[in-house]
Amino acid sequence: MKGDPVPADRFLDEEARRAVAATLECSELVAGLYDAQDRLRWASASFERVFLRGLAMPVDFPDLLRHGFRHGFGVQIDCGDVEQFLADILPRRRSTPFRAFAVDIVGGQWLWMTETLRPDGWLLSVASDITALKTRELSLQQAHEDMLTVARTDALTGLWSRRRILELGEAALRGCAESGRPFSLALIDLDHFKRINDTQGHDRGDEVLRHFGAHCRALLRPVDALGRLGGEEFLLLLPGAPLEAAQAIVERLRAALPGTHALPYTFSAGLAQALGREPLEAAIRRADGALYEAKRLGRDRSVCAPGG
Ligand code: GH3
Ligand code: MG
Ligand code: MG
Repeated sequence: MKGDPVPADRFLDEEARRAVAATLECSELVAGLYDAQDRLRWASASFERVFLRGLAMPVDFPDLLRHGFRHGFGVQIDCGDVEQFLADILPRRRSTPFRAFAVDIVGGQWLWMTETLRPDGWLLSVASDITALKTRELSLQQAHEDMLTVARTDALTGLWSRRRILELGEAALRGCAESGRPFSLALIDLDHFKRINDTQGHDRGDEVLRHFGAHCRALLRPVDALGRLGGEEFLLLLPGAPLEAAQAIVERLRAALPGTHALPYTFSAGLAQALGREPLEAAIRRADGALYEAKRLGRDRSVCAPGG
């Protein structure tokens, strides 16, 4: 059964035992055998290359790490303090009959290391090179992060994407509801944008959209989030702001707009403050009603949804 002491000579005759040692000796495996006092008593050629480089055996495990650290090889010690590193790892060493973990080696190599502890205290450490796997893992991780950034960003304006601003809205709404703080949002739509496209061209329209994003970003607080829902429609999240304060912020954006762009343009906004446990969708719908009203009243203005 697993964990039971198995006498080595139960399965291996003398010749086979010598063959095991000789094979380990010259294999690519980074193998080392420590005695009950945690002194390294035997090491494969690969182990010698990675961890010893001429250091004589027997050697205490901590001295082996100190030696590599002093001479710039062996385990990569990111904290820069080998004694601190030893204090961190020694409590885990010999804590269970079997352990497996990744080890970062100076120079960029990665090892998958296993430690098998025998009941009599001898410990066999066998590691294999997983640098290629690790490199692939890191590049997949990077690719994943890059994809997330793409999915979260609106390519034209650099603002949050529709998907991301709605996610952020859900989270901000939840956070404010839990802490009892107000949460307001504004739906913003550029006025007569079709006319800009039709008279100045689509590229000029794109340029106005980018300008609007940069204009708002320069004036908003870091906790406010602005995303492009699509076309020339934007969602502004104002966590912590009651409706009047939210409208003041939007009016500030509006008042500062004239003169910042060669092509004069305006926007209309509809605002709503989340009521009770109201879902984001419902608050957006009320803001949309207010935006419709702002358009109906002649555009270039902000209107608050009735009731909050
Ligand atoms: P209103 O004041 O009522 O909002 O009128 P509007 O012309 O702004 O509204 P409408 O919804 O009729 O037109 C929006 C236009 O936005 C139509 C569409 O061609 C244009 N549009 C949508 N997405 C983009 C884009 O990415 N770039 C450019 N340049 N135009 C876009
Ligand atoms: Mg419009
Ligand atoms: Mg529109």
